[in-house]
This record gives sequence, C-alpha cells and structure tokens, in this order.
Amino acid sequence: MLDCGDVDARRTLVWAAALVAGCAPGDGQGSPGTPAPAAGPLPARRAVLLVCDTLRADRLGSLGSTSGATPNLDRLAGDSLAFERAYATASMTVPSMCSVMTGLYAADVGAVPGNTSMMPGEVETLAERLGDEGWVTGAVVSNYALRSWSDVLGDRSVWQGFDHYDHEMTDAEQNRPGQFERSAAATTAAAADWLRARARAGEDRLFLWVHYQDPHGPYTPPAEYERRFRGPVRDDVRVPIGQRNTAKERIPRYQAFGDEDRVDVYLQRYEAEVAAFDAALGELLDVLRELGWYDDSLIVFTADHGESLGEHGYWFGHGEHVHEEVVRVPLMLRLPGGRLPDWAAGGRTTRLAGHVDLRPTVEQALGLAPTPGRGVSLLEPPREGRVLLQRVFPSDANDGLCAVTDGAHRLLWRGEGDAPRLFDLRADPDELRDVAAERPEVVADLLARRDAHLRETAPASAHEGSAAPLDEAATDALRKLGYVDGGD
Ligand SMILES: [Zn+2]
Repeated sequence: MLDCGDVDARRTLVWAAALVAGCAPGDGQGSPGTPAPAAGPLPARRAVLLVCDTLRADRLGSLGSTSGATPNLDRLAGDSLAFERAYATASMTVPSMCSVMTGLYAADVGAVPGNTSMMPGEVETLAERLGDEGWVTGAVVSNYALRSWSDVLGDRSVWQGFDHYDHEMTDAEQNRPGQFERSAAATTAAAADWLRARARAGEDRLFLWVHYQDPHGPYTPPAEYERRFRGPVRDDVRVPIGQRNTAKERIPRYQAFGDEDRVDVYLQRYEAEVAAFDAALGELLDVLRELGWYDDSLIVFTADHGESLGEHGYWFGHGEHVHEEVVRVPLMLRLPGGRLPDWAAGGRTTRLAGHVDLRPTVEQALGLAPTPGRGVSLLEPPREGRVLLQRVFPSDANDGLCAVTDGAHRLLWRGEGDAPRLFDLRADPDELRDVAAERPEVVADLLARRDAHLRETAPASAHEGSAAPLDEAATDALRKLGYVDGGD
C-alpha cells in the first residue's frame, strides 16, 4: 500500500510566480541540444502522457487494491499528485481520447457515437498546439481503435498533430487468430526507442503519448503473469458466454476463452494483465530517468476508461453504460521536481477532475496559456460547484446513457423525458440504490449545474464528425475487439 506520510513535506509551488519569471518555452532555452536543468523549475520542459486502456481505478494499490499488481503505479502515485475522483467523459476509447486531446466532450467534436466516428480536421488537438509551439510530438498506441487512418482520411482524429504516430501492432493475439495487438513490453520498447532517438538528436522538448492496451479484453497476459495471479476458482460462479459483443448478463463473444464460463478465471486474468502493464510502465519510467528526463517533465498518467467486472450485471466489457466502474479512472500528475500545485494540501486529493482537464493542465505546465474548453487547469485552485458529464451514445449494444457527477452524486438518464436515477457515491459507491425520489433537491441541483456547465463552457463552434469509411477488414477487426457491435 502507498505510504503517503511524506508527501505533505514536498514543496508546493506558486505557479503564477514561475510563469511570470520569464521561463516560458520559446525564449531560447528550448533550442535543440541545450542541456535541460537537472530538476524541474516550471514550466516543465516536456510532457509525457501515459494512458492504460481499460484500467479500473480501484485496481491500483494506491486506490485500495490489495492484489499487489501495481507497484510501479503506486510508486508513481506516491511521487505525484493523485486524484481519487477522476472521470473519463465516455466509457469507450476514441471518444474518451478525443476529450483528452481537445479538452472537449466527444459530442463537441463529433466523435460520436463511438470508436468509428472521427472528429473533423479543423478541431485543434493538444498535439497540434504543442507542435505549433515548437515541441516534437510522438505517439505510440497499441489499441486497434486508435490506429491512424491518416493515409485515407487525413487529419481527422486523435492522431492529428503527431510528428510520429507509431501504431504497429504485430503480436498475434492468443485468443483470436488473425488479430494483432502490441503487448505492454513492446509498447514500452517502441516508446523507449523514440525517446532515445530524440535524445541522440538533441530534441528534448517533446510531447509523448503512450497508450497501453493490455487490460483490454481478451485477457491474455504473458504466461508468467497468468501463473502468478492464478488462484482458486469458484465452480458455482458462472456467466453464460454470449453470442454478441455485449457484456449485459453475458461474457462478450470477443472475451470468451472457449467454453470457459467461470468468472474467477477472467478476473484473475484481468489482474494479470494489469500487472504486466505495470511492469512495462515501470520500465518506461526508468528510461525517462536514464535520459535525465524524469524530473523536469510533466508526467500524466490515466486510463481511457474502466471495465465492468460484474457490477450492474455487466461482465468484462465497457462502452455500454457510464457507472463508476467504467468512467472512474486513475489520474496522476507528476510535476517537475515532484512539486505540488499551491492549492494541494498533499499528494492525494478528492478534488473532482476529468479528462477534459488534461489539455489545459498540460498547456499551463508547459508555460502556455490554457486553451478554453470544458475543463480547467488542475494547477489552478478547485472551483466550487463543478460538475462533469459522461455519456455513451446509443448503439446496437445499448440505449445510450448520460450522467452528471460532482464526485458526491451521480445522476443518470437515458434521454429527454426519462426519469433520472440518482446515486450517492459516498454512501453507496456501488450505485445500487436510486435515491432520486428521496432527494429531489439534489436532482434539481445537479441538473441546474449541468446546464450551467454546458452553457458556460460551450465551445465557440460545434463540429460534426463522420463515421469513418472503414473498409470491411477494419470494421471486422473493430467488431472482434468489441468496438462495433454487429449483433447476430
Ligand atoms: Zn479503451
């Protein structure tokens, strides 16, 4: 378990003072080959965004897990500002990552209804902004849904603005012949290669996004991790294997290992995937240390969404609802020198935070003016009364669902006219008891704050995306990954 006893002793930082001290990027310190300072004055010299697909917040030791699967994440949490109430905007990869890259909701940028919808090129992304400001930009992604189609579609999605976009997925999946992915170890190796090449070229002002895939189903951990997390299996806890890629009361087809229907087998394999990812993440953090880039970088860690592991009747899937288990995500900010923003009383916070906050936070940490959007810079003090939204759009697999949360409650509704359901996240963290009828004042308050949030943060222009003209092979591959529900 994380020992947080020493984090309060870390120096806090008055951000405004650092930013007016004249050390903004572009003032001369950023020329290639200039030695970076050993320990991080602000602004940060570079930003490293580390994302793990399908990683539930509660699987981290630092957030309460006792599995021992995440020693490297726990160490990073102890060296970071860790957010205990952080949320994705969606429970699906592409809409979620569009929010990370833009600071907007997926609906703002047309990245709906799901992973095959592409935001249009005129939407500016974080990578485009940083590239324009002089940073070298690179991405290493290992989820098929994030594969770039720039050769066909041009600048249309999360790949916008990256000088280098490595989406090589050459490992044959154990569970599905003909399908490919990239393991965490290979993802780290590819990211490390790019970092070392930048170091050799003297390009140390960079923005790197690394997207790990491992905890995403099918749960096929390396054998050593599968063995390590193998344990007793309850014979009487079984779920039928479905014929579709939906997780409601069924094991989705893409997750199934033969006729295995005992849930403990899947739970143990999920844990093993998390551990394999964690080990690879630790190696990448070591590469940053080896290059002398750990201490003067902004390091952000999060997950794109979580995973249903039986809650609310959903088994081993995501993208079908927006309850806590799929939208609460781990979030850590490791600021240069291990410093904390001046508002933070320690290394952990229950402040409400979300993926829409990451773009303005990265920009401010790098010395840039934060781009207005749905989020706020997490370097600034918390704002009273804030809410965040989550949404899944209707598909073959679900009816669509909207949620608003302030971290204390979550209100869910299916559409206009639907009676909302209210859950008290503190008294009822599993969201089992609808208290909307008992607390109409909370319902009204959340709806009013939702409306105010949408009104006050509305982007200057709305965008319409488009469903990507994927070829049949790509559509089939996404379907097998669970991202396009073809039904049967
Ligand atoms: Zn994902």
